[in-house]
Amino acid sequence: MPEAGTARKTVEVPEYTIEERVEVDPKRTALIVVDMQNDFVDPKGALFVEEARKTLPQCQKLLEWARANGLVVVFTQDTHRPGDPEWAIWGEHAREGTWGWEIVPELAPREDELVVRKVRYDAFYGTALDHELRVRGVNTLVLCGTVANICVHYTAASAGLRWYHIVLPVDAISALTEFDKEASLRQAHWLFRARLTRVDGLTTHQG
Ligand code: ZN
Repeated sequence: MPEAGTARKTVEVPEYTIEERVEVDPKRTALIVVDMQNDFVDPKGALFVEEARKTLPQCQKLLEWARANGLVVVFTQDTHRPGDPEWAIWGEHAREGTWGWEIVPELAPREDELVVRKVRYDAFYGTALDHELRVRGVNTLVLCGTVANICVHYTAASAGLRWYHIVLPVDAISALTEFDKEASLRQAHWLFRARLTRVDGLTTHQG
């Protein structure tokens, strides 16, 4: 039994593969940009994630690639109102209608792109996301954004449970700690067979 108190240990991350190249069918694939909102991505935000700022150019690149290849583009937007129990865990953030709640201007959604207002880490929970993807014939999701082991992970996991194929470009996903990111990537790869690659490794083929 470990002693009571704060435990600190070093563990080895089991091996996982980051593929050089992952090909997707643009007609059946959606890019999901997770929670790239001012509260998480801007240094003045309520829950600033330093790495999220650093991955912004990679997310932009991915978004340009998705738009150029005609992928379905979806943005998730963490959305809370006063009294939301999540604020007891994290403090106030992503209050509907505020600057912090808005998606960062660098990744501004276009009129024809979907914005899914989500109330929990999992963007499928209590939203029409699954329906919106199914009616567009989507069976594969590329996810980027923040935070790796929270909203990206729970959304990817929830998609995996629904048998979507998952692709994670690791350089466009951010976390608060290295441990959090490693744990979530390994879990995604091992448990629901997510394919890991980098933004430059993504390519399209016509199905
Ligand atoms: Zn939240």
